[in-house]
Amino acid sequence: AGTASAGSDSEVLATLRRVFGYEDFRGEQEAVIEHVVAGGDAVVLMPTGGGKSLCYQIPALVRPGTGVVVSPLIALMQDQVDALRALGVRAGFVNSTQDFDERRTVEAEFLAGELDVLYLAPERLRLDTTLDLLSRGKISVFAIDEAHCVAQWGHDFRPDYLALSVLGQRWPDVPRIALTATATHATHQEITQRLGMPDAKHFVASFDRPNIQYRIVPKADPKKQLLAFLKQEHEGDAGIVYCLSRKSVEATAEFLCRNGIDAVPYHAGLDAGTRSAHQARFLREDGLVVCATIAFGMGIDKPDVRFVAHLDLPKSVEGYYQETGRAGRDGLASTAWMAYGLQDVVQQRKLINSGEGDGAFRRRAASHLDAMLALCETAQCRRAQLLTYFGQEPQAANCGNCDTCLTPPETWDGTVVAQKLLSTVVRLKRERGQKFGAGQIIDILLGRRTAKVIQFDHDQLSVFGIGEELSEAEWRGVARQLLAQGLMAVEGEYGTLVLTDESAAVLGRQREVRLRKEAPKPAVARAARGE
Ligand code: ADP
Ligand code: ZN
Repeated sequence: AGTASAGSDSEVLATLRRVFGYEDFRGEQEAVIEHVVAGGDAVVLMPTGGGKSLCYQIPALVRPGTGVVVSPLIALMQDQVDALRALGVRAGFVNSTQDFDERRTVEAEFLAGELDVLYLAPERLRLDTTLDLLSRGKISVFAIDEAHCVAQWGHDFRPDYLALSVLGQRWPDVPRIALTATATHATHQEITQRLGMPDAKHFVASFDRPNIQYRIVPKADPKKQLLAFLKQEHEGDAGIVYCLSRKSVEATAEFLCRNGIDAVPYHAGLDAGTRSAHQARFLREDGLVVCATIAFGMGIDKPDVRFVAHLDLPKSVEGYYQETGRAGRDGLASTAWMAYGLQDVVQQRKLINSGEGDGAFRRRAASHLDAMLALCETAQCRRAQLLTYFGQEPQAANCGNCDTCLTPPETWDGTVVAQKLLSTVVRLKRERGQKFGAGQIIDILLGRRTAKVIQFDHDQLSVFGIGEELSEAEWRGVARQLLAQGLMAVEGEYGTLVLTDESAAVLGRQREVRLRKEAPKPAVARAARGE
């Protein structure tokens, strides 16, 4: 890092331009960097994609010595280091994936003062050898990334983070900066306390993106719904359409092209040349639509993305927020639009059930999905729900720029229909020990003599045809909401519907079920334009 004892702000800005090639700082970046360069401690809360890395990379470059970055994301260290080296920053890392020689080389560079940035896995700081090594070199700043990992009651607690309080004790004169994208107020306090940073200045960026209009519609024929949305509101605009599978990425791009919309596919199965050509076109041209898996978007900084559409349900609110956040970086009106249906819920539950990982991993995946479903099914303001999820106070109970604010959904008493559906689930379980998904149950409720209904004598059940008051689409909506509310569950790898502990209360009439009425065509588009 540099030779100046402290950077003036022109030096900070000059570094941003010279090393990183960006014209200006974003949001709180400059304030954070100046504070740290001047030797102060900082706790930084910024959404993912908000630009946290520069908050420690620039102080590491401007202050004399090496910036030591503690990060639990070992798998990303090589990429981070490569990216910095490509910019001419002298960077290295020490973690368990290295062999002895590689580690010794990095350590020697550090001791010789030849590193600007050194990434360390948190468990290394439990070792005396690491602490001795650090004592023998010169350190400009400590950055503690993913600082919420120190919070014991949080999702991502890592015991190794507790040992990080030693940094302040052993190096009282080296500024520390703790960064995170997910922190409730309680987590924030725990970070300050456990890392021993009582005098740190707090920088809290707002997670609100007021220019993005959030909308989630019931999925019927997603490609057609998407096309109508684009034709009505975003003809000729640049945007991203996220799909879960490579196949649906391809199919969606083709469908849009056939219908006169300039669209290209992007997913990890395409060769590198095609991928980078499509990405370059997206950045350069006006009004190109990229249909992509979540592989697309990392580090893409196109200011005038006018919409982000989801044809499949993201796995978490964090993912949804990050992906939709790629819209409207220029601050102009943009739309985050999603089509979401019963099959999404069943599909994702099946994935969790059949997926790898231990119990804790699955429980975490399930709780992420639950939060995402709650956002989809809410009858309240979506923005308020998003902000509350990230631990921030919404400015108002109703933002006026999301679908539920613009066309408040009606709710209705769905207790009786829920009982009908759940009784059918019970019957199927009892009669044969066979496993059936939502399709069969809805066919029975509607009294349809399909081959599969006849094969299993389901037309003989007392519940056969008891649900003719609702359409198939309405029944799917009911099933989806019961799943989202935990009044029914998906078991195993085949999407079998089963009861939960909560279902009994519904069947026993001790519990009312409120359902959201699904407006077939919300008048959101016109309302949003003030017509
Ligand atoms: P975070 O760590 O908060 O998720 P990053 O530090 O990875 O975010 O930054 C997200 C993206 O924004 C990166 O592509 C980064 O290069 C870009 N970026 C950060 N700061 C600026 C800036 N001042 N101007 C333009 N792009 C920026
Ligand atoms: Zn709202």
